[in-house]
Amino acid sequence: MTEAATVTDEPRRCLGTNQDGTPCGTGSELIMPSGYCFAHDPHRALDRRTAGTLGGIKSGATKRKGLDPDQLGALETAADAVRWTVLVARSVATGALSAEQGRTVLAAVTEWRKAYEAGELEEKLAAWEAAQQGGH
Ligand SMILES: [Zn+2]
Repeated sequence: MTEAATVTDEPRRCLGTNQDGTPCGTGSELIMPSGYCFAHDPHRALDRRTAGTLGGIKSGATKRKGLDPDQLGALETAADAVRWTVLVARSVATGALSAEQGRTVLAAVTEWRKAYEAGELEEKLAAWEAAQQGGH
């Protein structure tokens, strides 16, 4: 945790920039091998909106932004569960959520998925049974 960031042998700074053009201030512990933080890594194919939201958090693991409810949306389908999981993972990685908050949300998503998958299985079984009875 040195502040000697001007020294050239301290390359652990994100190569990305924030939406307002200022250099990314993400802490060195979150810089990927690519030289970017999780939010700016081009290989992560992160959508620009999310990058902009997360990029607004400057080096502050203490400054939690939380999740954007508009981005999070409803939790009604398997695709929603994936979106939630990805958003929470990103938010924890960038410090918007604490690891504990992330664990709490992901545990809830996991429980939801179990219930969802059980319901889906019941529907498939019911459909299968109906097909058997209606068949020849
Ligand atoms: Zn960055």
